[in-house]
Amino acid sequence: MSASLAPIRTNSRIAAAYRDRTPGSAALAAEAAVLLPSGIAHDSRYLDPYSIYVARALGPHKWDVDGNRYIDFFGGHGALILGHSHPAVVDAVREAVGQGTQFGANHPAEIAWVRAIQRLVPSAERLRFTSSGTEATLMAVRLARAFTGREAILRFKGHFHGWHDHMTSGYSNHFDGSPTPGVLAGVAEKAVIVAPGDLAAVEAALREHDVAAVVLEPTGASFGQVPLRPEFLHDLRRVTEAAGALLVFDEVVTGFRVSPGGAQVAFGVRPDLSTFAKIVAGGMPGAAVAGRRDVLDLLDFAESRRLGREKIGHPGTYNANPVSAAAGIAVLGILAETDACERAAGMAAVFRGRMNAMLAREGVGWAVYGTSSGFHLFMNAKGRAVDPTAFDPFAYDMTELKTQPEELLRRLRLALLVHGVDVNGRIGGFLSATHGETEVDEAVAAFQGAIGMLREEGELA
Ligand code: PMP
Repeated sequence: MSASLAPIRTNSRIAAAYRDRTPGSAALAAEAAVLLPSGIAHDSRYLDPYSIYVARALGPHKWDVDGNRYIDFFGGHGALILGHSHPAVVDAVREAVGQGTQFGANHPAEIAWVRAIQRLVPSAERLRFTSSGTEATLMAVRLARAFTGREAILRFKGHFHGWHDHMTSGYSNHFDGSPTPGVLAGVAEKAVIVAPGDLAAVEAALREHDVAAVVLEPTGASFGQVPLRPEFLHDLRRVTEAAGALLVFDEVVTGFRVSPGGAQVAFGVRPDLSTFAKIVAGGMPGAAVAGRRDVLDLLDFAESRRLGREKIGHPGTYNANPVSAAAGIAVLGILAETDACERAAGMAAVFRGRMNAMLAREGVGWAVYGTSSGFHLFMNAKGRAVDPTAFDPFAYDMTELKTQPEELLRRLRLALLVHGVDVNGRIGGFLSATHGETEVDEAVAAFQGAIGMLREEGELA
């Protein structure tokens, strides 16, 4: 969301109800407003008039500083497939913290962490830990360029890969590849941006440019808000191999969620490199770039010497942090040994189904869709006749799937918070293995209540 949004209209009863429930958050937001840009730490936490301040969280719930309970679909930006404060994670983190938070040295847990990942992701022949998904995709790009000796990176319109200089154009704007503020034109122009799902455009770009790697979110932009067909992944595998370009799956969100082995195992495509974050570190800061040994060898002292290649430098104070390692090992072990991933996906399917039945009953021309444990809201900006119970996102283009009227979106988000539900700014989110029938039914009722409020306010027919 941009800071250019007009402030919410002051006559809104939804905003008034929100303010009534959240005086403690309002006071903190007022304090933060003069300390942090927009008073926040992450752009997607921006909300007008202000966001809630959360005090604690457990399972599928979180509580704000005013004591209001929310069913949480934000899911720690996708990091919390086992829900908040899973006891095994809390225990593992407590134990690790007690032993030291930063050794400035190798430690046994980093080996166990790699093994826990390799158990689920066979393509991870070698791996390097980073602190964030942004750093992981930055290293993937650097590895690909150094390995192939080529400069261009082929990316897809709307796909998000973090905020470093090589990945900013083409996510939510600058689709022509022009640089976003503060990014060098020479850097931006080496990112070739192609329409998602357009194999002919990919093939043309591979012919025209010196492409080091094709990078994508394997289930489509924003975790499938603009979905991709799995066949496209197989096509990309074939054409990248033929062109000598690397295929990089950004599994920061899909990793360990679409299946325990991520999208690559779910769809049977082996990328050359993958990036992981979020679930990989069990809700703690931590990420990794993983993949082919010969590519990761560019980070290896002895191998680069042997090959006569200059090693890629890679320090990083918090790489493989022991506390993050403990959380990651705990979560990945549970995902490997239980049906947690499947249960979250199963409950998400129930949620999507019940939401669509409710939307059909209410006669709102919206639809809820998604795959695995996620969901997205189609807000039908063009006012088409839509049967939510038979919605096919592939029938719509990216612009239509992504277009959500700003004022309506904002009021819906606030109305949902008033009804005790937290979703992301696109009114989508994640379910965890702790979301059950009760949360699903409460959330559907909350959406129904929010729709009622929007109607009372004349925002919705
Ligand atoms: N890639 C994808 C697909 C993401 O969704 C995100 C974060 N939402 C990132 C990369 C960046 O990860 P991080 O926020 O850890 O830098």
